[in-house]
Amino acid sequence: MRSFQLPSGTRLPVFGIGTWRMGESARQRRHELEAVRCALDLGYPLIDTAEMYGEGVAEEIVGKALAGRRRRPFLVSKVYPHNATRGGTVAACERSLKRMGIERIDLYLLHWRGGVRLAETFEAFLRLREAGKIGDFGVSNFDLGDMEEAARLDKGLTASNQVLYCLSRRGPEFDLLPWMRQRSMPLMAYSPLDQGRLLGKSALKKLAAEVGCTPAQLALAWLLTQPGVVTIPKSSTRERVKENLGALEVTLSRDILAELDRAFPRPATKQSLAML
Ligand code: NDP
Repeated sequence: MRSFQLPSGTRLPVFGIGTWRMGESARQRRHELEAVRCALDLGYPLIDTAEMYGEGVAEEIVGKALAGRRRRPFLVSKVYPHNATRGGTVAACERSLKRMGIERIDLYLLHWRGGVRLAETFEAFLRLREAGKIGDFGVSNFDLGDMEEAARLDKGLTASNQVLYCLSRRGPEFDLLPWMRQRSMPLMAYSPLDQGRLLGKSALKKLAAEVGCTPAQLALAWLLTQPGVVTIPKSSTRERVKENLGALEVTLSRDILAELDRAFPRPATKQSLAML
């Protein structure tokens, strides 16, 4: 699978499973664990999680799914903005490591921008990096202005920015994505199916039938054709976990890409970064 080199030299795979909404309901927990286990059995090379998801329970589910495996995937987690102080970031990271039963988070992100000075959060990230508790660090939900500020503070080490980006929300293509591409910084596209809303669009369904794949696979395959983009669809259903991975096998012709552009136009002007 394609991957991007990060500042530490490790590689970020272009595809993984998301875990938002996992761990929120005790009744769903077994089902969610099975879905993450299924993703690992199928060879998903990346898991995206956060201390926020299920208030730590999603990370515990990830930990359970990883237990006893020889090979582990690339792991991404995120610190809450209100924890992102110098000491708070380190403590939050240690809690996440413990919940997942691992020694190192490969990519640790600031979940969104809050009230703590960015310089302070980056200082903590650098400390964690030096201690080997994280491989790389980055941000999430940062629009261009925030990224420019980050670039002035981060010693060139911000590895990625995770943002809302999918066929029906193409705003980042106007300025953020080109800015990141220029710096060889991969963009992690979250909610690639717009949390399922995209899948009911008739244009997507029609084109998926033409390609011979499912609407979810078409939406994911489209993201994977965008240079410098990683994506992390979430599913708690084993069949869908498998279906989504199938997007990697879908090839899109120029004609299909042009039709997708007609149905889901590129942004013609700046749009403020949307956030879920
Ligand atoms: P997604 O766009 O990945 O959509 C998930 C929803 O779509 C779920 O309801 C899922 O249902 C459904 N679904 C998944 N696959 C299929 C399929 N093949 N057919 C039909 N329905 C499907 O939304 P997310 O918001 O979860 O985004 C993905 C990940 O990105 C998150 O889980 C999280 O890790 C990350 N994220 C990060 C954010 C940030 O601020 N940094 C914000 C939002 C997300 P079911 O589970 O029942 O299959």
